[in-house]
Amino acid sequence: MKNSTLNRRQFLKIAAAGSVVAALPFGTIHAETSLQNVHIVIMGCGLAGLAAAHRLRRRMPNAQITIIDGKREHHYQPGFTLLATGVWHNAQKVKADNAKLIPHGVKWLPETVLEIEPDNQMIITHSGKVHYDYLIVATGLRLGYEKIDGFEITALGQKGLGSVYYSPEAATATWQAMDIFRQKGGRAVMTLAPTDMKCAGAPLKMTFMVADRIRQAGTTNNSQIDFFAPKTAIFSVKPVADKVLELWQTLEVPPQVHYHHELAAVDMDKQIAYFRLPETGGETAEQYDFLHIVPPMFAPDVIFNNNELANENGWLNVHTETLQHKKYPNIFGLGDVNGTPRGKTAATVKKSTPVVVHNLIRVINGQAPDALFDGYTSCPMLVREGEAMLVEFNGKGELTPTLPLVDPLQPSYFAWYLEDVMLKPAYMTVLRGRA
Ligand SMILES: Cc1cc2nc3c(=O)[nH]c(=O)nc-3n(C[C@H](O)[C@H](O)[C@H](O)COP(=O)(O)OP(=O)(O)OC[C@H]3O[C@@H](n4cnc5c(N)ncnc54)[C@H](O)[C@@H]3O)c2cc1C
Repeated sequence: MKNSTLNRRQFLKIAAAGSVVAALPFGTIHAETSLQNVHIVIMGCGLAGLAAAHRLRRRMPNAQITIIDGKREHHYQPGFTLLATGVWHNAQKVKADNAKLIPHGVKWLPETVLEIEPDNQMIITHSGKVHYDYLIVATGLRLGYEKIDGFEITALGQKGLGSVYYSPEAATATWQAMDIFRQKGGRAVMTLAPTDMKCAGAPLKMTFMVADRIRQAGTTNNSQIDFFAPKTAIFSVKPVADKVLELWQTLEVPPQVHYHHELAAVDMDKQIAYFRLPETGGETAEQYDFLHIVPPMFAPDVIFNNNELANENGWLNVHTETLQHKKYPNIFGLGDVNGTPRGKTAATVKKSTPVVVHNLIRVINGQAPDALFDGYTSCPMLVREGEAMLVEFNGKGELTPTLPLVDPLQPSYFAWYLEDVMLKPAYMTVLRGRA
């Protein structure tokens, strides 16, 4: 705790004064109200879709709003990291019922969208077609585990296999594998995706925490940690990447970083991970006792396969600042599906939802969008049990700290407390369109 900028006592003083909640990295733009009678369809009932639905319901009392998503259970995904590292032990803590989260007066169609016909303003599901006047695409992203040959998602938790991203159950299974690993120690192989990722800090948090768990278990002498990155960086914001690498060197088992290594396949029985070496065209085989898999991530097929809607990388082709679609002005994008730099976090959704709702209402009222999103995102980077760094940055990769007394590149108990205790209530406030 000696490196902290804010120790536990200082933090509790500030919290008692009430400034912590006010200072949470979460601010506002107030959307205009519109009495127009239009049909707005929201695709996706995750954080982004629900946050937009709540705001629009209040701002557009006469609009017909439909949210379409076949998923019935809502997941508080930032909690997956806490489950996967043994900080939280109850998977129920990250689950909620979508039926209870959808605002009154918003119609829910519990189906998956199969296709969008943007020229006809039509959504196609198994049961038929839905016409929209305006569309918000908030489908999140797709985890491409099928790109890793030999890997089966059902094997998570067994034979040293972990992956924080997939589900509450997968996160719990990841902790089971990490817990067994730390008792004996051995070789932990940590990976990174070759694509854009949601919460790109999560693989780094997993690495810090596996190091801390073997330290706590007293098995550092038998242990080695290797971190394999597909490109030349472990994180796209350089000051953060540099700080993480610096901190890794201070750990009892410093992770060894190997660049230009892309996870290609796993032999789950023999516990061998195979990496492509894009630079040389070669391949390498790495034995592991614990493997953390970060799959490649893509926009869901309904966007990825739609040339009118997707950009060259398959993400929704929106203007970076207004989040309006580049070709279809009656379509906006929100959340992980957007082809915007860096921002695939809940914090991004918090900052961008008021922008999208405001701009959409302006378009409905025949005006040009005028609210601009700066690409803000944030991530409490767990460094060890009881310490984290509250990293905040914008779409240009510049650090944008918002909290007084908190150095974004210094581990603190405050940032840990934020992730462990305060982030979920803040997330629920965003989801209800109140932040
Ligand atoms: C392990 C992990 C740790 C994280 N940690 C943090 C953190 O510390 N801080 C932070 O700010 N963020 C964090 N995040 C990121 C954050 O959770 C996401 O960025 C956020 O949930 C994105 O919201 P979304 O609505 O865009 O996507 P989601 O919440 O994923 O929702 C997308 C919804 O769209 C639906 N959908 C998909 N395809 C279709 C279709 N064809 N038709 C209809 N519906 C469809 C899905 O069923 C889903 O319900 C973390 C995420 C993970 C996985």
